[in-house]
Amino acid sequence: MEKKEISLFVKCPLCGKSLMDDEFLLGNKPSVRVNIQTVEDRGVLHLCSIYGCTLKHIGIPVAEGEVVDMFCPHCNKELGISDKCPECEAPMVSFVIRAGGVVRICSRNGCASHHIVFKDVADEMSKFYYEYGF
Ligand SMILES: [Zn+2]
Ligand SMILES: [Zn+2]
Repeated sequence: MEKKEISLFVKCPLCGKSLMDDEFLLGNKPSVRVNIQTVEDRGVLHLCSIYGCTLKHIGIPVAEGEVVDMFCPHCNKELGISDKCPECEAPMVSFVIRAGGVVRICSRNGCASHHIVFKDVADEMSKFYYEYGF
């Protein structure tokens, strides 16, 4: 069965600005760019925008298993932390999806846990399908 690739367009949940970086491609799509902070350093993290893809590029050394703080490159606020990761208990960071809903990813390097949350499932799913042409 062919796997459909869904590329998400995400925004900062705080200032509403796009987090997409058209100049830095991952998986041949614009990546999601956020600023990160570890205990020792600050840098930039690019994430693949294809849902389910764990491809990423980290500009600073981050140890496997280290939890990073993520910040919006526009408003510099810490990106919405919601629940704890069901797999490893690190904070989950939220991004707003343009098509509606929120995508949450685990802030621990090496943990691939992520999921999408829709406020109104029926409505948002239909928008989602429409936007991505299912
Ligand atoms: Zn922002
Ligand atoms: Zn996790």
